[in-house]
Amino acid sequence: MTETLFCYACRTHHPRELMHRFHTRHGLRWRCRRSIEAARYSIAERDAFGRLQTEINRARAEQTAGRPFIPLLARRLQR
Ligand SMILES: [Zn+2]
Repeated sequence: MTETLFCYACRTHHPRELMHRFHTRHGLRWRCRRSIEAARYSIAERDAFGRLQTEINRARAEQTAGRPFIPLLARRLQR
């Protein structure tokens, strides 16, 4: 039987070879490679979504103010 370790990200046990050890505020914890990659991916997704949402909010604010919406890139080219 393969040795398993408790993954604190998934709250389940995985084979030891998939696990990475992490120092946290609460001491040493084990996380599986999959949960680390999933976290990294979701951060990138969130960043992309945040930038898009910022641009949408800006466009809406400018339209409300009665000004034509100029995308950031075009605005930079005007200078
Ligand atoms: Zn896991």
